[in-house]
Amino acid sequence: MTPERTPLLPRPTRERVRETIALYDVHATLPVPIRQLARDTGWDVRFRERMSPVLAWATRESGQPVMGVNASISTIYQRYAMGHEIGHELAGHLRTGGTWTLSSCLTRRDRDPHEAVADAIAALLLVPAYALDDWETTGAIARACEVPRRLVDLRRQLA
Ligand SMILES: [Zn+2]
Repeated sequence: MTPERTPLLPRPTRERVRETIALYDVHATLPVPIRQLARDTGWDVRFRERMSPVLAWATRESGQPVMGVNASISTIYQRYAMGHEIGHELAGHLRTGGTWTLSSCLTRRDRDPHEAVADAIAALLLVPAYALDDWETTGAIARACEVPRRLVDLRRQLA
């Protein structure tokens, strides 16, 4: 008997991600232009020094989604962080108010399930399905997509 796979994303959320990818042609080029997607979807993106150990945060100011991104981390982690914060918005997490703070990445499995959802959306946005087929190794896919290797591993679980 095949074990039932637990879906990481609720169906409406996954549908919203799929629509966003189609609407903004997100997967037309590699690496995915994630900063452009943030701008296109109305984000105010602010790069800031002295944020460590925080990678990024997201909130709403006067209705507009705003994210802070740690300017001192590598581009690869900045890209992951932007995808993650866009994920909070697409999942509806910003509607409840407050600020989401990303400080641990893709490591702890015991954290808030909202964080796992945001990570899953980051993986779907930043690692197109065709990238999984076009390169043989996780390292090659991660390099082509300019993301951490662990995001590629997560993307494979969502296939
Ligand atoms: Zn988060």
